Amino acid sequence: MTVSYYCKSCKKINKIKTKAKNRFELQQEIGNEINYRCTSCGTLENRHINRLSADPNYTIFFISLFVSVILTVLLWNVGFIAMVTLMLPFWAYFDSLKKANLFNKTRVRNN
Ligand SMILES: [Zn+2]
Repeated sequence: MTVSYYCKSCKKINKIKTKAKNRFELQQEIGNEINYRCTSCGTLENRHINRLSADPNYTIFFISLFVSVILTVLLWNVGFIAMVTLMLPFWAYFDSLKKANLFNKTRVRNN
């Protein structure tokens, strides 16, 4: 999961990679707040993890799109199965979108 936040000084998006699948796991991993230096301007920011938002995994979408195009070309003569492989990247994308939405909906308690 990739979570991101806007830098207050330069308005650029900073991305943080994490193994956490939801905000509770993120809290266990990094605590209630992040202490992060902006990659663009170097401003150190304190941000409560409730204010981080998750992004869908676009890498998965592009990898599966690539795989799907190859499979579709290879399986074209087989017929209908080619349509199934074409659906694969969209399925992977919506799955990651769903996970990101779920992450964004949950809030950890303020301690
Ligand atoms: Zn910045």
